[in-house]
Amino acid sequence: MCNFAGMNLTEKDQQYIWHPFTQMKTALPAIPIVKAEGVYLITNDGRKIIDAVSSWWTTIHGHSHPYLAKAAAEQLQTLDHVIFAGFTHPKAIELSERILNKLPFLNKVFFSDNGSTAVEVAIKMAFQYWHNSNQPKTKIIAFKNAYHGDTFGAMSVGGRNAFTKPFFPFLFDVEFIDVPVAGKEEDTIFQIESLIKQNDIAAFIYEPLVQGSAGMIMYNPKILDVLIEICKKNRVLTIADEVMTGFGRTGKWFATDYLNQKPDFMCLSKGLTGGTLPLGLTLCTQEIYNAFLSDDNSKTFFHGHSFTGNPISCAVACASLDLLEKQETQTQIQEISKFHTNFSQKISSVKKIKNIRQTGTILAIEINTNENSSYFNSIRDSIYSFFLNRNILLRPLGNVLYIIPPYSISENELNEIYSSIEAFIDQF
Ligand SMILES: *Cc1c(COP(=O)(O)O)cnc(C)c1O
Repeated sequence: MCNFAGMNLTEKDQQYIWHPFTQMKTALPAIPIVKAEGVYLITNDGRKIIDAVSSWWTTIHGHSHPYLAKAAAEQLQTLDHVIFAGFTHPKAIELSERILNKLPFLNKVFFSDNGSTAVEVAIKMAFQYWHNSNQPKTKIIAFKNAYHGDTFGAMSVGGRNAFTKPFFPFLFDVEFIDVPVAGKEEDTIFQIESLIKQNDIAAFIYEPLVQGSAGMIMYNPKILDVLIEICKKNRVLTIADEVMTGFGRTGKWFATDYLNQKPDFMCLSKGLTGGTLPLGLTLCTQEIYNAFLSDDNSKTFFHGHSFTGNPISCAVACASLDLLEKQETQTQIQEISKFHTNFSQKISSVKKIKNIRQTGTILAIEINTNENSSYFNSIRDSIYSFFLNRNILLRPLGNVLYIIPPYSISENELNEIYSSIEAFIDQF
C-alpha cells in the first residue's frame, strides 16, 4: 500500500515525473490537486481553483460529476474490458448508434484512445482508401499552424513549429494552406485550387471554425463550405478534426453543424467522455468503409490498440451524452455564449486588446504586446501566474488568453473570471 500521509507531493513529483509540454528545468513546481468538484480543482492545502479551461478542454460537465461517476462504477463492476476483435459489447454499440444518429452523413465508428489516435486512424484510412481503390495518392492538405495531436501522423499534418522541429526529417509531406481568416479567404481558395490540380491529394484535414492550439484562431463556416465543396468536386477526401470543437463547444453539437458540406471522416475525443476517461472515435462514410471490404485480406484495416472500445470509457461517453442531451445543458451552453458576447462588447474598445473573438462557449482575447502573437510570447507566464494567484486556471496560448469553461459554470463564476481579466488588463 502506498501511504501519502505526510509526504511532500511536490517534491515527490519532481523526483519522479516528467510533465507534458513542460520545460522541466524552469517550470514552477506542479500544484498537487487531490480533489475536483464542479468547476473547482482543490489543492492538497485546500485552495479552490476555478478550472476555466475545462482541464485541457475536456471536462464539459464539470469535475467528478456524480452521474458520470455512477456510470463508470457500474460498468467497472459489470464488464471492465474485452478484446475488441471478434467480440463486442452493448456500450460500444449504444455509443456508436447514438453518435451516428446525430451525424447521419457518417455510417461507421472506429474506436481508439485519444484525439491523436483518432486523427492517426483517419489519415491511415484515407491513404488506404486510395491504396485499396488502386489509385494511390500520397499528399494531404492541412492548414498552417494546425494542431492535430502529437503522434507522427498527427504531427505531420500539424503546423511546422518549434514543437515539431526535432522531427521535421521524419514527417511526411503535407501541403499547407493559409487559414481563411477574414480578409484571407480568396488566398486560401486560390491555394487549394492550385494544389488540387496535382491529382495526388488524398485528403484535406481541418479543425472546423476554430483552430485550438494555434491560438483559438476563428474563421467563417461559409468559407469552409467552399473549401470542402472544392475537395468534393475533385475527389479529395475531407477529415473534420472535431476533437476540440465537438460536443457543444461551438454552440451547436458539432462545428460541422454550421456547415452545408459534410466531411468523409470526423475525429472525436476530449469532451466525448465528459473529460473523465480517454477515448477517441474516428467516424467515416459507407463509401470509405466499403473500400476495405474484400476477399483479399490485404485490404483489411490493420490497426488497433489494446484498449480499443474500452467498455468503461464507452459507458461514461453514453452517460455524457445523456447529460448533453438535457435541455438544461443546452440552455447553459447558450447562456455561456451570451455572457461571453456581452463581456466581449464591454471590453471591445480597450486599447491593450488586439482582438477579441468568440465561437459559442469559446472566448479568446489577444493581448497587445510588442512581440508577435505566438505560443512563446513572454507575456504568457505572467498571465498564467496572475490568474493562478487569483485561484483561476487560465492557460494562455502565448498572448492569447482564452476561456473554455465547463458548461456547468455559473454566472457568478464567469463574472469572477471576467473581472479578473479586466483587472489583468488594467494593471498590464
Ligand atoms: C487536443 C487535440 C488533438 C489531440 O488530442 P489528444 O487527446 O491530446 O491526443 C487533436 N486535434 C485537436 C483539434 C485537438 O484540440
